[in-house]
Amino acid sequence: MTSNNPQTREWQTLSNDHHLAPFSDFKQLKEKGPRIITHAKGVYLWDSEGNQILDGMAGLWCVAIGYGRDELADAASKQMRELPYYNLFFQTAHPPVLELAKAIADIAPQGMNHVFFTGSGSEGNDTMLRMVRHYWAIKGQPNKKVIISRKNGYHGSTVAGASLGGMTYMHEQGDLPIPGIVHIAQPYWFTEGGDMTPEAFGIWAANQLEEKILEVGVDNVGAFIAEPIQGAGGVIIPPDSYWPRIKEILAKYDILFVADEVICGFGRTGEWFGSDFYDLKPDMMTIAKGLTSGYIPMGGLIVRDEVVAVLNEGGDFNHGFTYSGHPVAAAVALENIRIMRDEKIVERVKTETAPYLQKRLRELNDHPLVGEVRGVGLLGAIELVQDKATRKRYEGKGVGMICRQFCFDNGLIMRAVGDTMIIAPPLVITPAEIDELVTKARKCLDLTLSALQG
Ligand SMILES: *Cc1c(COP(=O)(O)O)cnc(C)c1O
Repeated sequence: MTSNNPQTREWQTLSNDHHLAPFSDFKQLKEKGPRIITHAKGVYLWDSEGNQILDGMAGLWCVAIGYGRDELADAASKQMRELPYYNLFFQTAHPPVLELAKAIADIAPQGMNHVFFTGSGSEGNDTMLRMVRHYWAIKGQPNKKVIISRKNGYHGSTVAGASLGGMTYMHEQGDLPIPGIVHIAQPYWFTEGGDMTPEAFGIWAANQLEEKILEVGVDNVGAFIAEPIQGAGGVIIPPDSYWPRIKEILAKYDILFVADEVICGFGRTGEWFGSDFYDLKPDMMTIAKGLTSGYIPMGGLIVRDEVVAVLNEGGDFNHGFTYSGHPVAAAVALENIRIMRDEKIVERVKTETAPYLQKRLRELNDHPLVGEVRGVGLLGAIELVQDKATRKRYEGKGVGMICRQFCFDNGLIMRAVGDTMIIAPPLVITPAEIDELVTKARKCLDLTLSALQG
């Protein structure tokens, strides 16, 4: 609560008096006061102090087409006037949800032609869990209930989402995971690879899936869920050996494969889906975030034709949300996808901005604090270390948080996951803006290093 601006102080007082913020230490936030973001355009945010900030995280990985696109506002306004709400229960539908389902089927991998809509990614994964179990029950194998997931994966914050996720700090609160969800190792070579080569470690990590299937018993396993690239866990790019080995294992056992595409979907890797990038051929894909570029909440589950054929034989699926396929959200998502297609945004990521960002980011490898730079598409991670050769961290110094604060203070949003700095800018970021991002990132690394030495 240090601002001299009376308007900022007023908003911060409202925050203290009335607001409980997600993923926050309520008491600490009261002492510090939140930064108030008032408006945004393109890749830039402005706060109530008048600072302009380059949003290296696209909000929470979601603002794919950038801020301030009037077309999305107009689509919402038009739909609100025409039909602001109607539900999809009881054998009704409305045009925007049907047109959106078709538009998604057109860009989804081959053979994935149906979508169940939700209000968020978490609800998409809740839907997945219930649909997987329903699917196996219809097939006469009701014991195939267990979902295998990965440590340090992120699948949302509802009870099922947080249970599927592998975040121990989330499990500690509220007695999670719920029964029937088990976790295997993550393919995070930089911190967990030890003396193994990345290739050998990738095989080892993938083999954990087979071991877990055999331990639980294939007759009890319903599905394996994974993010093509772990986002919230720290932009973890699996070694090249990982996905091919996982695919071999999945082909061997009769279980479903769910790709959580909430971050990787809608162009983040330079393909429409992370599953295209790694050729994963999943049975289901969870979507949200980039689906509407975050302009309005919406999520969903894309389902493979063979799975739908089984579900068709199962009578009622007793599941859905008041806001499943909300017409305003659907209209916004449709317009978002139209813009991505017409402006060839995904192609531009693949051929122009992703190669450029990855090249420029890797220049930071020469910095004394940097142990590794990695990335795919418009995702990037910078590992901060004390010793480059041994990948040894600065223990207990909170280096990531120090760096994050310098970024904030110098007009750049980079997120810290432990001592890993991560970025996922809007997909419309230009080469000039990438230059600005990398220049600011280097400056903040310098400031962090001085702070550690000072
Ligand atoms: C954000 C996220 C979710 C949860 O989405 P919400 O809309 O926040 O519920 C699920 N999976 C992944 C991979 C995510 O990044």
